[in-house]
Amino acid sequence: MLKKQVQPLEKKVWLSSPTMHGDELRYMQEAYETNWMSTVGANINEVERLISEKIGCNYAVALSAGTSALHLAMKLAGIKQGDIVFCSDMTFSATVNPVVYEGGVPVFIDTEYDTWNMDPVALEKAFQLYPGTKFVVVAHLYGTPGKIDELKAVANKYGAIVIEDAAESLGATYKGVQTGHFGTIGCISFNGNKIITGSSGGMLLTDDEEAANKVRKWSTQSRENAPWYQHEEIGYNYRMSNVIAGVVRGQIPYLEEHIAQKKAIYERYEEGFKGLPVTMNPFDSVNSVPNFWLSCLIINPEAMCQQVRGECEPLFVPEDGKSCPTEILNAVAAINAEGRPIWKPMHMQPIYRMNGFVTREGNGRAKTNAYISGGAVGKDGRPLDVGMDIFHRGLCLPSDNKMTAEEQNRIIEVIRACFE
Ligand SMILES: *Cc1c(COP(=O)(O)O)cnc(C)c1O
Repeated sequence: MLKKQVQPLEKKVWLSSPTMHGDELRYMQEAYETNWMSTVGANINEVERLISEKIGCNYAVALSAGTSALHLAMKLAGIKQGDIVFCSDMTFSATVNPVVYEGGVPVFIDTEYDTWNMDPVALEKAFQLYPGTKFVVVAHLYGTPGKIDELKAVANKYGAIVIEDAAESLGATYKGVQTGHFGTIGCISFNGNKIITGSSGGMLLTDDEEAANKVRKWSTQSRENAPWYQHEEIGYNYRMSNVIAGVVRGQIPYLEEHIAQKKAIYERYEEGFKGLPVTMNPFDSVNSVPNFWLSCLIINPEAMCQQVRGECEPLFVPEDGKSCPTEILNAVAAINAEGRPIWKPMHMQPIYRMNGFVTREGNGRAKTNAYISGGAVGKDGRPLDVGMDIFHRGLCLPSDNKMTAEEQNRIIEVIRACFE
């Protein structure tokens, strides 16, 4: 099936795997030797201090996962049963599921082509379609900051709270400010595939002391100050372990190094794809500095061979001079490297099929269905459902920061062959 044989890589190159440096083990051992094998200890205090300093926020609360941080963010924001919540559409499901944990109803806002994040024009449309909405959940996909000023201007105009999901973008900046510090509440993740990792873990970021105290209390089972277990509120077991915090503590000094490596990978791909009918995942080079967590490409429409994706399986028809994400992912896998399709937009997910979806021209549901059966375009001549279009033509490339230039060249070679 492959258009050209390329020598497989001796060692598998992953999409994005943990990169340890040694200090992690030392801090974990310290937790062990001092017997702080618990959700209390020096590592937790230190990672909270280091991250709040890095982000520039007053408080960083260490939690068991980015998803727990997002859950407590939704609760803190005051999302109640039946509340509409505007959410990024092209993102990982963990951005959105916590809205539902609190009884909120996600309405998905379409993506723009400039940064692959929430479209401020569509967000404005959404406030007209769903007046009175008070919550916006924004993610920065693949480490690229979205159109923060525009999004915040729209949210402020309607008095809505912004919850920022910076799980993928730790270390990325917009106008010199760290992502995670733009929303009323920010969330980050230390999952195993993120730019730095604790194997798991996450944090909630805020400037508000009262909010930070509430989150700390909720995350440790909401215990009241009494001699016995006294509870006035529902609690959660969401606090970060001091052992995990040891791993995070060892990783933090290497954040900038990881970003530099990821940036070099992005630039090597960009250079290696010269002359191909593809572009890399775009960013606003004037106002933002991504962390380059994942390198992605998108194929020009005219260079796409036929590709159909069912619920769980893809099909494509190979064609000379053209390719598609399925063919490229197969070719990359055949040489022992891991790519991945673009995160499938939430409005296309069976679980969220009945939820609202707003494009830059308004209610997107009816028009989206038209796109499946023929290709609805907007007044500007571009596809109306931007998320679906990027999902159709784009893919995530192997972006592991331990990948050598030689390994990456082999990956570039096999991708170039797809267009022969
Ligand atoms: C990884 C991720 C999360 C969830 O973080 P966990 O630590 O895995 O729970 C949330 N949102 C986005 C965009 C992510 O990529």
